[in-house]
Amino acid sequence: MTFGVPFGTPSFFFFPYNHQAMRASQFFLPTLREAPTEAETASHRLLLRAGFIKRVSAGVYSYLPLGLRAIDKVRQIVREEANKAGSVELLMPTLVPFELLEETGRDTVEVLYKTTDRTGRPFALGFTHEEVITDIVRSFIHSYRDMPITLYQIQTKFRDEPRPRAGLMRGKEFIMYDAYSFDIDEQACETAYEAQKQAYIRMFQRMGLETLICDAEAGDIGGGMNQEFMVISEAGEDKVLLDEKTGYAANAERCDIGGDYELAMPASSPKAELVETPNKRTVEEVTEFLNLKPEHLVKTLLLKAGDKNIAALIRGDHELNPLKLARRLGVEKVDLMSAEQVMAITGADVGFAGPIGLEDTIIIADNAIKPMKDFVVGANRDDMHYMHVCHTRDFSVDMFDDIRLAQDGDPSRSGGRLKEIKGIEVGHIFQLGTKYSAAMGATFTTPEGDIQPIVMGCYGLGIGRTLQAIVEVSHDENGIILPVSVAPFEVVLFTANAEDDAQKQKAESIYKDLIEEGIEVLWDDREERAGVKFKDADLIGYPLRVVCGRAMHEGKIEIKWRHKSESELIDLENASQTIAKMIKEEKQRLNA
Ligand code: ATP
Ligand code: MG
Repeated sequence: MTFGVPFGTPSFFFFPYNHQAMRASQFFLPTLREAPTEAETASHRLLLRAGFIKRVSAGVYSYLPLGLRAIDKVRQIVREEANKAGSVELLMPTLVPFELLEETGRDTVEVLYKTTDRTGRPFALGFTHEEVITDIVRSFIHSYRDMPITLYQIQTKFRDEPRPRAGLMRGKEFIMYDAYSFDIDEQACETAYEAQKQAYIRMFQRMGLETLICDAEAGDIGGGMNQEFMVISEAGEDKVLLDEKTGYAANAERCDIGGDYELAMPASSPKAELVETPNKRTVEEVTEFLNLKPEHLVKTLLLKAGDKNIAALIRGDHELNPLKLARRLGVEKVDLMSAEQVMAITGADVGFAGPIGLEDTIIIADNAIKPMKDFVVGANRDDMHYMHVCHTRDFSVDMFDDIRLAQDGDPSRSGGRLKEIKGIEVGHIFQLGTKYSAAMGATFTTPEGDIQPIVMGCYGLGIGRTLQAIVEVSHDENGIILPVSVAPFEVVLFTANAEDDAQKQKAESIYKDLIEEGIEVLWDDREERAGVKFKDADLIGYPLRVVCGRAMHEGKIEIKWRHKSESELIDLENASQTIAKMIKEEKQRLNA
């Protein structure tokens, strides 16, 4: 083992700045007994207490030495697996000239940090780099022979998040792996997408992190098929729906709902009847007033899809999913109408819209309305609703479709039930199509000599959020429990009694041996009581703890895996080799 020491020089004495190993007395271990009050989740509290990160301002953190080492580990795993997948690393600037974003219309993205240089020229701080990479590619890639190619970087991103949260989970500044694939057609793009997906699976596996791959919405990035890697956790901000039987999982924003809804025939139900509902607007107010359950009301949401008027009908106890509605309509987005627009169309205030007698409006009803035949709707008159309404009889529906937000218990498309869980989005992969290449003129010549836009994919993984997700799902009341692949040090070593010379000598020799073995070891040689060192070791979460103590009299030494509850004694003889072997085996297990 050389650790970059030239010619295999055996001793670290010639190389005091061995990055692999450290003495705590020369290191920076600012652990805290109490978490600062700002801490919002277990992982946030622990990263602060263990001295991995320090808050600078809301959503802005310093990585302290332990945190940086762990971040570097995550970064390196990501880099290695990206390289193995055939992606090529580059580095783009943080300062992005505004005119590049203007080419794709992303100059108005909400989270953008804008700045100007001394001449007044506008720049954005990079929040993701589709425009910059497409600009590179349009300069250099001109032929089908230049593809496929996937380029990536690992770099700090800036987003002016409205609600920065929980440390590295949602920062205004955060480190991201972002990759971009360039292909001649959709099929080749799918191949590149699949290669990245497999690389992601290996990355998270090497970090010992279980993830769920979910169908997702594209958001500001745009494009088509895309999936998220979710870590299941109550601390997550995303709602995920999972059909445990089939494994189908999707972000609630994206989740399809199945189920066979039979179209009701308006048989013998009573006629629609106009009723007064003075100042009752919300589903709760109206149904309470009429002494009905929310599922007996159909709400009418008025929206604009471009210049078209849309009335979306949703059962009272359900929510519209506007992204789904837009997808069903084949438009980029739908916007709720303003109060003035609602008044212009219905002649009534917001809260009293209904489908009966609506003109110049496309009526789209959620599938759950299909079997309903006696319900309440707004009457398009202030303070009035209709009761005993039937679709098809009292108004016609232009289209029934799945347009509502999926929730716990809904039927899944494959026949099972959807279960709602919470997730932390650690990665997101997209097939972009030609959105950016077409807008920016990144084209290539086909073998037939035609000019076509390049087909792109993009792939993001939050380095800091991933580290924090690991902590969120892997800790106990004493602290962090890290896998060897991510821990800032693989082994922590100390003596039970700092005054005991024999223990000290042994610790020193194990320290040197472990360095020789290529093990990343922290020797906690601080002038502190053993109790403090035990506590810090548990808090920081080194995978293996080695203590030179009284057992030495019996020719033994105590070791303890952080993830196990019991310590064990190993032979003092060849202890370093035994420890090194254990660490290497554990690493191999994760790499397998
Ligand atoms: P979110 O929905 O959580 O805001 P996003 O969908 O906007 O994230 P992407 O553009 O898909 O994020 O970014 C790729 C990855 O970068 C995400 O999967 C996540 O791991 C990470 N990431 C995004 N925003 C942040 C942030 N503010 N702080 C830390 N990591 C982030
Ligand atoms: Mg995302």
